Amino acid sequence: MKNLVILGATGSIGDSTLKVIRKHPDKFKVTALSAHSNVDKIIQLANEFQPEHVVITGKAALHKVEQALSGLKTQVHGGKNSLNAIVSDKQVDLVVAGIVGNAGMESVLAAVAAGKTLLLANKEALVVAGELVMPLAKKTKANIIPLDSEHNAIFQCLGNGYEAGVRPDGVNSITLTASGGPFWEMDETLFESITPAQAVAHPKWNMGAKISVDSATLMNKGLEVIEAYWLFNIASEDINVLVHPQSIIHSMVNFIDGSVLAQMGCPDMQIPISHGLGLGQRLGNDADFLDLLQQKQLTFYQADSHKFKCLQLARHALSLGGTAAAILNAANEISVASFLKGQIRFDQIAQINDRMMNAIQSVNVESVAQLNDLDEEVRMKTKAAINSK
Ligand code: NDP
Ligand code: MG
Repeated sequence: MKNLVILGATGSIGDSTLKVIRKHPDKFKVTALSAHSNVDKIIQLANEFQPEHVVITGKAALHKVEQALSGLKTQVHGGKNSLNAIVSDKQVDLVVAGIVGNAGMESVLAAVAAGKTLLLANKEALVVAGELVMPLAKKTKANIIPLDSEHNAIFQCLGNGYEAGVRPDGVNSITLTASGGPFWEMDETLFESITPAQAVAHPKWNMGAKISVDSATLMNKGLEVIEAYWLFNIASEDINVLVHPQSIIHSMVNFIDGSVLAQMGCPDMQIPISHGLGLGQRLGNDADFLDLLQQKQLTFYQADSHKFKCLQLARHALSLGGTAAAILNAANEISVASFLKGQIRFDQIAQINDRMMNAIQSVNVESVAQLNDLDEEVRMKTKAAINSK
């Protein structure tokens, strides 16, 4: 029996994780859950799983959840620091990092500092703080298992050849596949009229709003290039990106002898999550089995990083190093949120991200406090840039 903490339990990764957990009550005990603002859902989940701890990071939600759960043994905590405490608890074996954005960064670091097995969905934590996370994991022997479908695919293809942060032997390059999102075939001149509703309607994956917009701008693939750089210690030039609209091959490893291993499956996050939770043992889930006869065609296209500038910006951030990726991430979190609120157009997301990267100088990564200050500074400057338009 493994004791499990789910950070971001009320989100899409939380949903997929809990679907798998429900199938294996003999293998996992949910000891803590976190939520930010979704009061009804966390109350329902707390009643169902009766965890020892619930953390509510959104101020407005805390009191309501405390009241609603007063009849349970579950302790309700508020604030970001409580996330760090629940992941560091001695009895915890596995931490699922499913918070969206840089808000999840400190709890990822806390899980790594405590030497836990970290099942990582929160890619922004590595994008922003990879330079702190990876050496710390080496020191504490924390096991970082990627849940992001592409990185989990590569992890599966590498088998025993995977050690977080170490370039695997015999690998020539890796290929991340991208669905391309809803607009990869659309003429760029039409980007300015894309609505938030169109952008979040992903053709293959059912995900939270932020990552859905990132998929539509290909920023998600850019963030994933950076994520792959940290997880597998592979240079940007050895990380290929291919648009594969069917989303059946989740990524590939190209070995030096010409062998290519790919991992396939239906586009359902229960699959990589089951693999991560199983720690080497296969776990059943509710995802559909792949029927290649139904599928018929698997196609591949070059990713267009001129049309989808965010992909280019991410590679540029990786080449600059230091805090460049943290700057890009913070700018992108604000530009995506502003797009979702109807304050900027779809095509302005990349423009604003580009502008902020040019406006703020990258420096060496030194500490969490420095990254938090920088995150706040970039957010403020990005909002100011948006408001001045
Ligand atoms: P969702 O928006 O669906 O869920 C986000 C979760 O984070 C919710 O539980 C939310 O709480 C919580 N949250 C939001 N803001 C904060 C905050 N400021 N502090 C603490 N918690 C917060 O996102 P997804 O599940 O789609 O994505 C989660 C992460 O996983 C992202 O980093 C994403 O890139 C990655 N990922 C997601 C995939 C997917 O299929 N969804 C696939 C691969 C990676 P509440 O709802 O209570 O407000
Ligand atoms: Mg992915």
